[in-house]
Amino acid sequence: MLLAGGLSALTGCVAHPADRDRAAPPGATAILPTAPGAAVEASAADRIPAAYTRGWPHPPRATRRSGCLVVFGPVGPAGRPQALAHAGAAALARAGRLWGTVPRARLVLVVPPSRRLFAQATGTTAATAVTLVPTDTRYGPVTVVRPDIVRGDPDVLASVLTHECVHLLADVGAAHATDGRVRRDLAPAWVREGMAEYVPARALGLGSALRASARRSIHAARTRPLPASFPTAAALAATDPHDRSRAYDEAWLAVDLLVAQVGLGRAVRWQRAWSQPSDLGNDGPSAGDSAVDLPALRARWQAQLRRWRR
Ligand SMILES: [Zn+2]
Repeated sequence: MLLAGGLSALTGCVAHPADRDRAAPPGATAILPTAPGAAVEASAADRIPAAYTRGWPHPPRATRRSGCLVVFGPVGPAGRPQALAHAGAAALARAGRLWGTVPRARLVLVVPPSRRLFAQATGTTAATAVTLVPTDTRYGPVTVVRPDIVRGDPDVLASVLTHECVHLLADVGAAHATDGRVRRDLAPAWVREGMAEYVPARALGLGSALRASARRSIHAARTRPLPASFPTAAALAATDPHDRSRAYDEAWLAVDLLVAQVGLGRAVRWQRAWSQPSDLGNDGPSAGDSAVDLPALRARWQAQLRRWRR
């Protein structure tokens, strides 16, 4: 789903894996919580547009960990913000190991105190987390997380945060391509959401669980016409949760088939190349190593959909 001024993200098809990556990455142990009720740290205020915390009943507080800054409302018991900073730093490292690190990438998490304020900040109630690129170029990407996700199952949180970190890395990489200005000509929605589903599933050992759930949701739609092409941004933002979830499954399947064909490294280079449009054809980057035969991929994808719809 694409929101004005930002990338948005929705993760719905998450199982309950064992998070194999609970240990914080090296150098990510400094935690600096502010006093309760204190004004937001200057560094946090510098990073976050005021609109994202407007209407909060208490001033936001900040907790920091190397590679991750968390700004939060009263979302849970004491210690939870530190745990969230830990989870955020681990998710960024996890996403970077598979998708590729981006030197300037810094995860900034905002946790509104209620679902209403989450919806106010992001413009959606359906997503579990949304990574926004503020139109004001003084600010970098900000990831807004729904408070019940932070309070809930830590394995689901790990998957949601890793999904958002893939968006963060992909977008910061794109911004790099134009000397810091955020580009709007990113890869198509199915590539961005499919890759953001693929990476956490693989990193957290969820591949077979995701495949099983995708197969069920695609089978459930067997009476509908076979999709002519990959899911659009509109399909990925459908208001019906089943339609939206299936669109994410279809996007994941397309990326899964792509990676099976060309390998993850080349699939990532292909995604990156969308933001360097010098060699863009109708089917995206077409030159050299970053070329992908999209019609052939589409045919394989439709054949898999047909098998799963039987
Ligand atoms: Zn997403």
